[in-house]
Amino acid sequence: MNDTHVDVAEPDQRAASPAELSGLTGGAPLASDTWLDRYSGALMNTFGRPQRVLVRGEGCYVWDADGRRYLDMLGGLAVNALGHAHPLLVSAVTSQLATLGHVSNFFASPPQIALAERLLELLGVSDGKGAAGRVFFTNSGTEANEAAFKIARKTGRTKIVATDGGFHGRTMGALALTGKPSIREPFEPLPAGVVHVPFGDAEALRTAVDDETAAVVLEPVQGEAGVVPAPAGYLAAAREIATRHGALLIIDEVQTGIGRTGAWFAHAADGIVPDVVTVAKGLGGGIPIGACIAVGDTAELLGPGSHGTTFGGNPVAAVAGLAVLHAIERDDVLGNVRTVGRHLEDGVHALGHPLVSGVRGRGLLLGIGLNRAVAPQVAAAALDAGVIVNPVNTETVRLAPPLILTVAQADEFLAALPKILDAAGEDG
Ligand SMILES: *Cc1c(COP(=O)(O)O)cnc(C)c1O
Repeated sequence: MNDTHVDVAEPDQRAASPAELSGLTGGAPLASDTWLDRYSGALMNTFGRPQRVLVRGEGCYVWDADGRRYLDMLGGLAVNALGHAHPLLVSAVTSQLATLGHVSNFFASPPQIALAERLLELLGVSDGKGAAGRVFFTNSGTEANEAAFKIARKTGRTKIVATDGGFHGRTMGALALTGKPSIREPFEPLPAGVVHVPFGDAEALRTAVDDETAAVVLEPVQGEAGVVPAPAGYLAAAREIATRHGALLIIDEVQTGIGRTGAWFAHAADGIVPDVVTVAKGLGGGIPIGACIAVGDTAELLGPGSHGTTFGGNPVAAVAGLAVLHAIERDDVLGNVRTVGRHLEDGVHALGHPLVSGVRGRGLLLGIGLNRAVAPQVAAAALDAGVIVNPVNTETVRLAPPLILTVAQADEFLAALPKILDAAGEDG
C-alpha cells in the first residue's frame, strides 16, 4: 500500500440547483426598503442612498424589487448599449464562460485578438496587417485613461493640457486630468504636470500647448459636465495645435464611443485622427471592459514591463465587446441612434415646456437644459412616473438610453415628460 495516499473527495462539479441559484442571485424576494437598509449597512456610502433596488431587465425596461417597471432612459450610465438581457450578448458571454473564462495575460485568447483588430478597423487605422495601431485592454474607463496617461509620460515630456469640466475617471492619474476641482482637491497631491484650460476655446489651447507638452486630453462631448458638445472645429484645431508641438492628442471616448453619438466614434465627425482613443462604457454592454487604443508610433510607447493588468482583455469581456460591435453592425444600430436621437431632441423642443431651456448633445447622449436648478426633482418625479433619467447637474437632465431604443419607446418618454416637468416645477 502507498502510504502517501490521501483520501479526499473529488471537487464537486455540479451546476447550482434551483435553490442554490435562487440563494446566489439574491434569495427570497424582499421589499426595496429592506434591501436598502442592508445596503446602507454593508456598502461604503460613495453614492448616497440609491433610489431603487433593481432586480430584472429586458430590452429598454427594468423592474424594481417591488415589481414596478421603468423605462430606462439612462442605460446604466451609457453602458447598456444593447439594453438589458440582450439574447445575442447573453448567448455569446455564456458560451465563452462555459468554454474558457479567464487566462492570465501570459497567454493570449482568440476573442481578445479579434476584438483588438475590430476596434482598430472601426477606428479606421487598420491596414488589415495590424501595423497601424495597437490596443491595451482594461476593465474600466478610468483604467483606459491611466494607460493613456502612461503613454503620454513615455514621450519623455510631463506637461498635459486638459479641460475645465472634463471628466476622465476617479483613479489618481485620471483624477489629475479631471477638470472638476471639488473632486480633485481632497486627493492632492496628484500626478503633477496637468494644466486645465476652458473647454471649447481653441485660443486657450493654442496658448497653453508648447514644445514641453506631452499630450492634450479632450472629450468630444463632455458628458459629466452636463452634456456639452465641443464647438465645430475645436477638435480639428486641437489636432493641429498638438501636431505643431509634437504633442499627442488623446480623445476620451469612454462615454461617447461605440455608437453613442450615432457614429462608432464621436470624433469621426471632426475628420481627425487622434494619437490615442479611450473607450469603455458601451463596449461590453454591461460586462466590464475598456480599451486604450493608440495609433501609429504612439502604439509602441508602452513595451514589456511598462504596464499591465490581471483582468484586462479577459476572454469573457472580449467576447462581450465583440457581441456588442456585431449587434450594432448587424442591426444598423448607428442609424437607429441617429433617428431616435433626433426624434427625442425634436420631441422635447416641440413640447415647448416652460421649464426647458434647450436640448444639447448628439445621437443618444442628450442633455435637457432647465431654466431652474430642479434637475434632481425632475429625476425623482420621473422615477415616480416609471422613467429613469439622470440629473447630471442641477440644471441638466441627461439621457443615455440603450442604443436600441425604439421610436415608440422615445414617444413613451415624450408623452410622460410634461407631467414629470410639471411635478418637478411645483416642487422646486
Ligand atoms: C465614465 C467616464 C470615465 C470613467 O469611466 P469608469 O469606467 O467609471 O472608470 C472616463 N471618462 C469619461 C469621459 C467618462 O464618461
